[in-house]
Amino acid sequence: MIRDDISIPFDVQKIREDFPTLLRSVNGKDLVYFDNGATSQKPQVVIDAINDYYTNNNSNIHRGVHFLSQLATSQYEEARKIIQEYINAPLSEEVLFTKGTTDSINLVASSLGELFSEGDEIIISAMEHHSNIVPWQMLCERKGCILKVIPISESGELKMDEFDRLLSNKTKLVSVTHISNTLGTINPIEEIIKKTHAAGGYVMIDGAQSVQHIPVDVQALDCDFFAFSGHKVFGPTGVGILYGKKEILDQMPPYQGGGDMIAKVTFEKTTYNELPHKFEAGTPNISGGICLGTAISYLSEMDLSAIHAHEMELAAYAEEKLLQFEGMRIVGTAQRKTSVVSFVVDGIHPFDVGTLLDKQGIAVRTGHHCTQPLMDFYQIPGTIRASFAFYNTKEEIDVFIKALERSLNMLR
Ligand SMILES: *Cc1c(COP(=O)(O)O)cnc(C)c1O
Repeated sequence: MIRDDISIPFDVQKIREDFPTLLRSVNGKDLVYFDNGATSQKPQVVIDAINDYYTNNNSNIHRGVHFLSQLATSQYEEARKIIQEYINAPLSEEVLFTKGTTDSINLVASSLGELFSEGDEIIISAMEHHSNIVPWQMLCERKGCILKVIPISESGELKMDEFDRLLSNKTKLVSVTHISNTLGTINPIEEIIKKTHAAGGYVMIDGAQSVQHIPVDVQALDCDFFAFSGHKVFGPTGVGILYGKKEILDQMPPYQGGGDMIAKVTFEKTTYNELPHKFEAGTPNISGGICLGTAISYLSEMDLSAIHAHEMELAAYAEEKLLQFEGMRIVGTAQRKTSVVSFVVDGIHPFDVGTLLDKQGIAVRTGHHCTQPLMDFYQIPGTIRASFAFYNTKEEIDVFIKALERSLNMLR
């Protein structure tokens, strides 16, 4: 793992005060929340923004002439701009609101997929989340496309020479995760994007685990699509983002039909609205969109390099402590990783460990983490995963390690 040695002052105790859930107790113990890969906790500003929207500004958007409708519309569109700026998208209409990463990927698979034909190839990787596998399999069944998978090494890194072999002029799209939710691996997406474009294909990046940890600049990356979920970046559930290049989105047919996505409807023919509305049928999650903007504003006030350094320090500390246990195996030992630590212990089922940790107030995730093919590769039923956010501390890791020791002693 590459880790920064420079220690940047980072007031984690002060940051924790922004997150009320972190201050609660669970099963009589102070909560230790290490399940950030599944969802993040919300800062008070986001909770307040949700409350404020429903208390003061609730109204439907994009259609009303009245005051509240215009207010809600401008807040919603302002949020789109905040997000556009955060990922450095050239145009705000390239930033589509969706329900989340899963919905964003399904949008591309359904819509862009309509332009694919029999024999076209789609490449994913062996470490994808189910939501970046199943939509492509469904598309392959519908259209007769062929799904190819970039294999990984034991350390959990993509075999790039195998990728080179899979890539051809038949490749229509490569869809890979920026960062693995199970292993923490940071994939070489810059190289994947360059090579795929040279071969004439599109690239979609699943950014569900990246925007909250490392800077993302969609223009510098030059990816064609980039997806992430609000709830993993300290925002609400039920809202997410799909960034797509305008020239590609313009060629794509609508995903769903309904209100808002139309220009004119008659029973003979309907014409579609312009971007981004063409892909946003029906009343959206208005509060979700606005408050995702609040979450991104909150995040953008923080120093991402300080966040990264702090999270990497936590991960290194946790791994060092974990490796002192007998029979311990860290799953995912890539050179470039984020703050995800997955592990298994010889002869012990992950689920039992998770249950005993929960009794001690510690939230970790156990199981396949929606990456069953990856578990098959490692020939394990699942892992125990501690995934850290910037608000976690070394003291929490100490509590976790003690609790783990107690749990393993009970199970052995
Ligand atoms: C969480 C996650 C998803 C799915 O996100 P949803 O918010 O459940 O739609 C997809 N890919 C990765 C890598 C994830 O971590």
